[in-house]
Amino acid sequence: MTDRTAELAENLARVEERIAAACAAADRPREEVTLIVVTKTYPASDVRILHGLGVRHVAENRDQDAAPKAAACADLDLTWHFVGQLQTNKVRSVVGYADVVQSVDRLKLVSALSAAAGKADRELGCLIQVALDAEAGGRGDRGGVSPEGVEELAAALDEAPGLRLDGLMTVAPLVGEYAGRQRAAFDRLMDLSTALRATRPAANMVSAGMSADLEDAIAAGATHVRVGTAVLGVRPKLG
Ligand SMILES: *Cc1c(COP(=O)(O)O)cnc(C)c1O
Repeated sequence: MTDRTAELAENLARVEERIAAACAAADRPREEVTLIVVTKTYPASDVRILHGLGVRHVAENRDQDAAPKAAACADLDLTWHFVGQLQTNKVRSVVGYADVVQSVDRLKLVSALSAAAGKADRELGCLIQVALDAEAGGRGDRGGVSPEGVEELAAALDEAPGLRLDGLMTVAPLVGEYAGRQRAAFDRLMDLSTALRATRPAANMVSAGMSADLEDAIAAGATHVRVGTAVLGVRPKLG
């Protein structure tokens, strides 16, 4: 085992323990929560090691980095999640490797993704990214639509060929009424998910929680946690 493999194995084991403990505390079966490892800024060689250690879901937030990494790992059975703010001019590239886009936050992106998925003859999973710090009708600093905008996007996704509405995603806000209140933020996301699932029971993914707050997300009911730093280490640059 290389040093890096040993390091990642140890970090993964620690994250797995945290997830298992959080599930137990919330009286939820461990299988209800899927770990997505956010590999942004780290090389394809780390993705390959993680796959060898049993990871099957990875996430990236910049197409420039993600596209070559996904190509280098095309032989691995991995589900790729795109979690970054997405410009429409990158959509065609992202649709080439992503299985799920978690950052759908505007109508223009829905039509661009639908057109690209159609051309590529692929079905793409989509999560609506909710910005809990956005004004009604606005968008968040780090992407996302305000809670009031979720229904409009869901309706657009229902009608969009090639796209499948899988659920909701959020990043705990750094500002606004939810700043520092991760559990309250994730509870709010769960309420929005409950409302969405009332008419769309299959859209049951709830992606919330990162290295610092995965316990709060699991307590609130998240089905997917996105963990970077706690598995791979502190990122060398902002990503
Ligand atoms: C980077 C990132 C994560 C992982 O954050 P860590 O704090 O490193 O665990 C999760 N979600 C999104 C959208 C990210 O950009």
